[in-house]
Amino acid sequence: LTPIHVIGGGLAGTEAAWQIAQAGVPVILTEMRPERLSPAHHSQDLAELVCSNSFGAKAGDRAAGLLQTELRKLNSLIITTADRHAVPAGGALAVDRGVFSRSLTEQVASHPLVELRRGEVTEIPREGITVLTTGPLTSPALTEDLQRFTGMEYLSFFDAASPIVVGDSINKEVAFFASRYDKGEAAYLNCPFNRGQYLHFWQALCEAEQAALKDFDRETAKFFEGCLPIEELAQRGEDTMRYGPLKPVGLFDARLGDFRDPANREKKPYAVVQLRQEDKAGQLWNMVGFQTNLRWGEQGRVFRLIPGLENAEFVRMGVMHRNTFINSPQLLSASLHFGDRQSLFAAGQLVGTEGYAAATAGGWLAGTNAARLALGLPLLTLPVTTMMGALFNFISSASPKHFQPMPPNFGILPELPQRIRNKQERYGQYRDRALADLEAWQTSIKDLATCRV
Ligand code: FAD
Repeated sequence: LTPIHVIGGGLAGTEAAWQIAQAGVPVILTEMRPERLSPAHHSQDLAELVCSNSFGAKAGDRAAGLLQTELRKLNSLIITTADRHAVPAGGALAVDRGVFSRSLTEQVASHPLVELRRGEVTEIPREGITVLTTGPLTSPALTEDLQRFTGMEYLSFFDAASPIVVGDSINKEVAFFASRYDKGEAAYLNCPFNRGQYLHFWQALCEAEQAALKDFDRETAKFFEGCLPIEELAQRGEDTMRYGPLKPVGLFDARLGDFRDPANREKKPYAVVQLRQEDKAGQLWNMVGFQTNLRWGEQGRVFRLIPGLENAEFVRMGVMHRNTFINSPQLLSASLHFGDRQSLFAAGQLVGTEGYAAATAGGWLAGTNAARLALGLPLLTLPVTTMMGALFNFISSASPKHFQPMPPNFGILPELPQRIRNKQERYGQYRDRALADLEAWQTSIKDLATCRV
């Protein structure tokens, strides 16, 4: 068998290479470190954790925990190694990062079917089966080649993603549905401020504590005037946000009557925060214009001052760093291969999943499918009721226009047949359904040679 190429030895690439080798297919894994370091990586080991040492909550009724449980059932190398080198971290799966990465490097490098090469890859191989897993800090030369290959002008963004809020946690007695100037369907929820509420919020935002930015991010930050953090806008003046993303014009709360009518004029909000629907089911809402570099705790505290968001539950907080990702809804299938070229797979943050466990999950599927392609077997997709399946379904079918990286969360799973108000109970049911469906799926493909489950 011709070796499969995996490019990038991060979380996704390490998992992919392992799954390919375990399927009996030779693999060449190329990692640019230590010859070339990304701005966030420091070591030469595989699967280096660039920031926190945590894979998130362990419990199966938490989104991260469910993803870990699914990966454990699928014999993920990364998760089983994380379990072996776990350190106490309350309810989270956190690891001794040095030992964890060294152990992975040893396991992968000593596998008889893996060849570990060092050096930067500057072009996507045009032939053979390839898995691209070069992550959010893909080297500039390869990013350029990806731009050529995908025909997309921008792949590398200064990622200033806005927080995402769970729909059920938004107070709809305060927030109202409307599109500006009634254009199109009312796919926005609007949180109206009166003057006093706005000034209180503005003050809190100006005073909130920011997270430290890496030097390379500061460099990049200069070039994105059109995508300024909300706290930066606030600091430019009391009214700057009201003339920007919080402008109160063209938004009418049908419950209060048309503000254009002079009789209703005093009901017009002083400022409005808009939330844009993120998923088809309307469970996830993105805070428009709220890209931010505030510390996560501060985001929760300050953004809950917005009327209607008093009890907001955030599935993703705002983040800022360089982030290279492709527009997966336009390019990828839920099996993680490119529509235009079935022999080219991609996974990890590069395809718009967010977080260590999500990158690992992508590596598992892309690696497994690459091996299956080499062996002449049909490609797999996971049930959409599992956290893994839901993530890959989301990135391959979300709206391409506003596509942003997505972490594991319960909002992307199909709704349960019955409505359960209690959150803990609801999440428990999501978990039970996911694990039952995963088991049934595994049973249905057990006889296929490459899926050793
Ligand atoms: P990576 O783990 O980054 O792996 C990509 C690998 O490809 C790297 O080893 C890189 O050296 C290599 N590479 C790049 N270009 C080339 C090339 N041309 N040729 C060969 N090799 C190449 N997620 C969390 O869950 N928790 C966090 O705390 C967290 N913090 C983050 C902090 C920063 C600064 C960034 C950028 C991201 C963070 N993330 C975090 C998000 C994301 O989950 C991680 O970046 C995760 O490591 C992504 O996994 P990956 O396999 O896609 O990419």
